Amino acid sequence: MGKETNVKNVYLFGDKKADGDASMKNLLGGKGANLAEMNLIGVPVPPGFTITTEVCTLYNEKGRDYVVSLLKEEVETAVKAVEEMMGTKFGDKENPCLLSVRSGARASMPGMMDTVLNLGLNDEAVEGIAKKTNNDRFAWDSYRRFVQMYGDVVMGMKPESKEDIDPFEAIIEAIKEEKKIENDSELSIDDLKEMVKRFKAAVKAQTGQDFPDDPWEQLWGSVMAVFDSWMTKRAIYYRKLNDIPAEWGTAVNVQAMVFGNMGANSATGVAFTRDAGTGENLFNGEYLIDAQGEDVVAGIRTPQQITKEGSKRWAVLADVKEDDRAANFPSLEEAMPEIYAELNTTQNNLEVHYKDMQDLEFTVQDGKLWMLQTRSGKRTGAAMVKIAMDMLKEGMLDEKEALLRVEANKLDELLHPVFDKKALAAGKVITKGLPASPGASAGQIVFFADECEKFENSILVRIETSPEDLEGMNIANGILTARGGMTSHAAVVARGMGKCCVSGAGSLRIDYKKRTMIVDGKKFIEGDWISLNGTTGEILEDNIATIKPELSGDFGELMTLADKHSVMLVRTNADTPHDSKVAREFGAQGIGLCRTEHMFFEEDKIKAMREMILADDEAGRREALEKLLPLQRTDFEGIFQAMHDLPVTVRLLDPPLHEFVPHEEESQKIMAKEMGITVKDIQQKVEDLHEFNPMLGHRGCRLGNTYPEITEMQSRAIIEAALNLKAQGITAKPEIMIPLIGTKKELKMQEEIVREIAEKVFEERNDRIDYLVGTMIEIPRAALTADEIAETAEFFSFGTNDLTQMTFGYSRDDAGKFLPIYLDKGILDTDPFQVIDQTGVGSLMKIACEKGRRTRPNIKIGICGEHGGEPSSVEFCNTLGFGYVSCSPFRVPIARLAAAHANIKQGAWDTDVTKDVLKDSAKNIGDTLSTEYANVEKEAKKAVKKARKEAEKELKNLKSEAKSIFKKFEEEIKNLKKK
Ligand code: PEP
Ligand code: MG
Repeated sequence: MGKETNVKNVYLFGDKKADGDASMKNLLGGKGANLAEMNLIGVPVPPGFTITTEVCTLYNEKGRDYVVSLLKEEVETAVKAVEEMMGTKFGDKENPCLLSVRSGARASMPGMMDTVLNLGLNDEAVEGIAKKTNNDRFAWDSYRRFVQMYGDVVMGMKPESKEDIDPFEAIIEAIKEEKKIENDSELSIDDLKEMVKRFKAAVKAQTGQDFPDDPWEQLWGSVMAVFDSWMTKRAIYYRKLNDIPAEWGTAVNVQAMVFGNMGANSATGVAFTRDAGTGENLFNGEYLIDAQGEDVVAGIRTPQQITKEGSKRWAVLADVKEDDRAANFPSLEEAMPEIYAELNTTQNNLEVHYKDMQDLEFTVQDGKLWMLQTRSGKRTGAAMVKIAMDMLKEGMLDEKEALLRVEANKLDELLHPVFDKKALAAGKVITKGLPASPGASAGQIVFFADECEKFENSILVRIETSPEDLEGMNIANGILTARGGMTSHAAVVARGMGKCCVSGAGSLRIDYKKRTMIVDGKKFIEGDWISLNGTTGEILEDNIATIKPELSGDFGELMTLADKHSVMLVRTNADTPHDSKVAREFGAQGIGLCRTEHMFFEEDKIKAMREMILADDEAGRREALEKLLPLQRTDFEGIFQAMHDLPVTVRLLDPPLHEFVPHEEESQKIMAKEMGITVKDIQQKVEDLHEFNPMLGHRGCRLGNTYPEITEMQSRAIIEAALNLKAQGITAKPEIMIPLIGTKKELKMQEEIVREIAEKVFEERNDRIDYLVGTMIEIPRAALTADEIAETAEFFSFGTNDLTQMTFGYSRDDAGKFLPIYLDKGILDTDPFQVIDQTGVGSLMKIACEKGRRTRPNIKIGICGEHGGEPSSVEFCNTLGFGYVSCSPFRVPIARLAAAHANIKQGAWDTDVTKDVLKDSAKNIGDTLSTEYANVEKEAKKAVKKARKEAEKELKNLKSEAKSIFKKFEEEIKNLKKK
């Protein structure tokens, strides 16, 4: 129990028992909850305890002293329990208990926060460990690692900039130079002792403080350092990238150390229950004999594979001959067959238990397997889809679970280009590395993560990456490293980002100072183009062309499943037949927004458009519109044909007219020549069209209402195009949409023109088609008066771009100047132009839906702002009962999956709500009945009491009456006798 609060702050685990379990991720972090759970299902885990995420929040609010005093008693009790389970003693000279201290947030943030290992060592304990293990080298190597790690993490010795030299690394290099040795493994025990001495002196020199010998001081220092690492720049950046709120905080896991570096019978490794790059159901991973955890992921030694099959595959990629592989790089399966068998069973059990692909960390200490971590493994978009669909087929997941396993936004990766086969075949492969994260990418070489923005397309080339490189990795098109395996930092992070990565390309010679990369004698400098094939590990010269990917197999099945479980349809925003076709291939169920203005920018139309704008009167405008009519009709025919049988929402002209005239003098001169007028005339018109606030100016239906002939021409083009197709046996379903409505009359007047023209054309052609007239809801007034608008509108389509602009009062064109700062400062949680602001804009949408439906119960409602392809916004639209969302073609699959997620979650929500309502009403009925029963009982008791009282009274009366009668009789008898 906490000292000052009644809350439990420390959760113990070990010996197949645990205070927590997997459901407690919010409190114990992912790692802590899973360590507890692994104990509960009998997996061997070194004992330890978890300090909750709530303490991290308290630490940020109230500081170190408060937290230490809050935790002291609980932590001391927990350490005692760990000592008992391990048979060691914390701080003991002879038999010391050594601990690890690791972070662990609710969502995994690989490598972003700090860790301290081998804690509890000092000049005395190191001798105890040396004696106990009979291994001086191991003891002193552990001690120097501890001083270095503690110095870096807790005492702030880590260099801040890339130019600074790590003081510890400098000492190691100096000793190696003095001793004329190359590898760390050649360092003698005395060298290691000397190293510890110099490390401590460096700490004193740089920080002015002595290195702490007291294990308790070491422990508190490490716990606080982990809390501090929650707020480091890289952790904050990672959270931003992955939408992880700062309030979550990290838990701290303190665990008994187990050592993978205790000699040839010890090892350490990381493994995935399935392939995180491709999703293939193949247990895989890497390990190193006689090494400590960080060695495998740091990419300093080349790790070996876990399975024999994986090892053989690796050898092919790494160009290692079979006898060399078997002798020098054997798999764990070959080197430690019994341990492998146990690990294989454990991985299988964990995957079945968690029903998801797991990312595992393990250590073998002197022939005994210990599991250090299990968590859902990060994976590429392709792996995510394959694993979900495979697990569905294996019966591990049901349809809804499988759908929910695939993150909608991550599908984006699958929609990105792959190398064009021909271009790839013609490309020159310069070398090969490991296919760490699949995909294709090309870019210009940069050598430093903070310089990735130098080129529009960059490839980050590093010897190895570290968590500091995260931001650059996110910006670069692809990542290439000379060192590191499939579980190196670069590989894991790249897969999480869905970014193409080739790692461990050993033949690269990278010189950071000269900014060069040499492969086989050929020099590449910063700015040179290279291409990476993350699926094969090939590195190619130049910029290799890419093509769009094919969407079949698992992806197709997933999409079919998504449609089965959603109610909302997904349309697309498209204004060309090509885009319409692409979107249809992605499964679009119609067009939700065809912006007609884009058509006018094409060469054949812009001239007539400009003539119309320059015209002085209606007659002049009509003349120009006559020229536009056939061109526009052909455009619509193309789109209707591509979308045959599906609805197509065509929006009438929307943008301010100034967008169609040139503003630079050069272009004005060309236009003047073409039109046979003076540049001055054009400049005069440009001046006339100038507006201070064009997005709130003469645009949208205001154009159609001031120049009705534009609406007439567009309506005619739409209806004639649909009739032309009908004549060819093709069904077009136009939905004519009036933009930027604020009042019911603005809409009514436009609608009358559309219907009048349609009737005219039907008469001329002696034929008809079905069509709808509706409007966009993108002005707050339209939302608030939607009941009036719905008198005319047959459908509403929410233009959330403008609705957001006008609700917030943020100009769409200028928000870029302050939105990033607002997001940084936390004034806004998300960019409202990307994610619907459900509180504000969402309220207007809700009002509009309710009011609109009041007037026209079956009104068709959809959305066509950019939010229509953003998963959380799609889910919001589902809660408002929209018929469809509409988004750009490449986001259609994402929106289809998000629509299914929305429906599944809402279904679950409805069921939960129903359950709660039923529970509540049952409770209410029960309560009412028992109150009524109590009342009746009370009444009955009262009545019985009253009746009894009355009866007693009656009896008493009767008795006295009988008595007096009896008395009377006696007297009477007496009298009679006398007589
Ligand atoms: C909108 O405002 O949301 C919309 C779709 O229209 P546009 O972006 O063309 O203004
Ligand atoms: Mg708009």
